[in-house]
Amino acid sequence: MRVISLPCPHCQSRVRAKKSRTMSSMMKEISYQCQNVECGHTFVATLEVSRTVSISAMPNPEVRIPISSRAFLAAKNQLSLDLVAA
Ligand SMILES: [Zn+2]
Repeated sequence: MRVISLPCPHCQSRVRAKKSRTMSSMMKEISYQCQNVECGHTFVATLEVSRTVSISAMPNPEVRIPISSRAFLAAKNQLSLDLVAA
């Protein structure tokens, strides 16, 4: 699995995730530590669900995620095709 993280904002070195805290089903806070011993920066970043690109086949009615314009157009086109086929 590919791990995506930011480089250290001060020295651009690699960082390592030290711990995470779930804030909600849509957001997590992750604490990172710079791997450059001469820097030593430790910081917190936020990982947040921002928009839907492809609609879930198992939608949770309690989850509200903005839909990307591309996904909206794809869903609208599919609905038009379904109506034509019906
Ligand atoms: Zn650093």
